[in-house]
Amino acid sequence: MGIAVSPQIHPQVADFIEKPRKMLINGNWVSAASGKTFPTYNPATGEVLAQVAEGDREDIEQAVKAARKAFDHGPWRKMTASERGRLIWKLADLLEAHTEEFGYIESLDNGKPLGIAKAADVPLAADLFRYMAGWATKIEGNTIPISVPYTPGAKYLAYTLREPVGVVGQIIPWNFPLLMAAWKLGPALATGCTVVLKPAEQTPLSALRLGELIMEAGFPEGVVNIVPGYGETAGAALAAHPDVDKVAFTGSTEVGKLIVHAAAGNLKKVSLELGGKSPNVVFKDADLDAAIPGSASAIFFNHGQCCCAGSRLYVEKSIYDRVVEGVAEQARKIRLGSGLDPETQMGPLVSKEQLDRVCGYLEAGFSEGAKAITGGHQSGNKGYFVEPTVLVNTQENMKVVKEEIFGPVVAAMPFSDPEEILPRANDSTYGLAAAVWTRDINKAHRVAEQLRAGTVWINCYNIFDAALPFGGYKQSGWGREMGHDVLNLYTQTKAVCANLAA
Ligand code: NAP
Ligand code: MG
Repeated sequence: MGIAVSPQIHPQVADFIEKPRKMLINGNWVSAASGKTFPTYNPATGEVLAQVAEGDREDIEQAVKAARKAFDHGPWRKMTASERGRLIWKLADLLEAHTEEFGYIESLDNGKPLGIAKAADVPLAADLFRYMAGWATKIEGNTIPISVPYTPGAKYLAYTLREPVGVVGQIIPWNFPLLMAAWKLGPALATGCTVVLKPAEQTPLSALRLGELIMEAGFPEGVVNIVPGYGETAGAALAAHPDVDKVAFTGSTEVGKLIVHAAAGNLKKVSLELGGKSPNVVFKDADLDAAIPGSASAIFFNHGQCCCAGSRLYVEKSIYDRVVEGVAEQARKIRLGSGLDPETQMGPLVSKEQLDRVCGYLEAGFSEGAKAITGGHQSGNKGYFVEPTVLVNTQENMKVVKEEIFGPVVAAMPFSDPEEILPRANDSTYGLAAAVWTRDINKAHRVAEQLRAGTVWINCYNIFDAALPFGGYKQSGWGREMGHDVLNLYTQTKAVCANLAA
């Protein structure tokens, strides 16, 4: 504890992180059953930012019990869809009213620039809640004409009900702590589920503050429970819990596979948003004034800690030098610094572990023959900063081209023939996102159709909207979040068939 930040910190945030933060179970803020806490760090300094209750199996047990009771017997299930929608809308209003405060929390806990947290993370989260609030009253079944050949002359009324799936366990990562909480909570609440949310150990603070707003908005006790803690303990207990009906996970593909195994015990429903190694393809007929900054932001936004980061940059040969040098030029201009410094354009990576991981990848790249035309190293020796890096001399079989680095490192590669690029772009175990830059509209749509990715951007990158489904092909995941697609993940269909015998 002991706040390790400059005096300009937002006073409410200073108060918030001064005391050990408790967990939210059944509408109450409680300490861990074990009494233990764990530290969360300020990645700009490496110093402890706050202490947080360390949830474990017993706390998950209590939280699931509360969520079960709220789902089976609480006022939540008796509320109208309109009442649910209004509560979610109110939560969005409260969140928006606290934009400044959430901006500080995200910046301090995750490292991202304050201005970005306020302009992107918080408004996107509020917008997601509003979009989902609107869905609460629009989740409908169908009436279905049935013929039943073996009951000639009989008449039936058949229809479907879309019902909430039940108690949902949600496990989220640290790269967009608040936004990932919103992506998960929004649809669960709109459909009438109850939730146990486990935030990432590196960034638990914004979810806990959001929990306070959830209670302030008036959600009944037990509808949302928030248990911070470690993945191997609290996360694993939640994924395996026999009384949890569904688990929704965002994180690494490796842990995603553990979640699938853990879910097998009671065959709970599973949705997964996992890693990526997304190809960003620049054709020679692209508008380079857009493609160059767009390709730089594709990899450097959020310090490359985006599951959809454009980490494989494929450029048509005749413009390769110009584009790669242009992206490197953009990288050199990026100002690294603490997220709270208004001049900062890129903050630190989230943790020492990530810093080591990214530097390990850089070393592996160099030893396999890659060359950095800019960056390539840790920056400074305080905090977890890495220089924005452009790698050239890279080959398809290198670790830095195959594996997700999750840092500000792009591998650039030329291609000579538009026909050759599709198999190369698709040669990945991942399939989360892709982009294509060209002025040829026919080529753009033809290529978009053939890219095996859940999102394809044309002449843009990192465009997100609550109405647009997001998720992965191949080992990038199961299911789609956002848009109306996500409602399928939180509802199940009941077929009702009535005999209308006279
Ligand atoms: P991670 O290790 O997979 O962690 C994600 C979450 O899972 C954390 O809350 C973590 O807890 C928890 N966890 C870890 N081990 C667990 C276990 N055995 N059982 C249950 N839960 C467990 O991922 P990360 O490295 O922190 O985050 C970065 C990864 O997330 C990247 O690979 C990125 O591609 C992916 N990601 C994907 C998307 C998407 O939408 N597709 C979005 C963001 C990030 P701890 O915090 O204690 O480890
Ligand atoms: Mg982790």
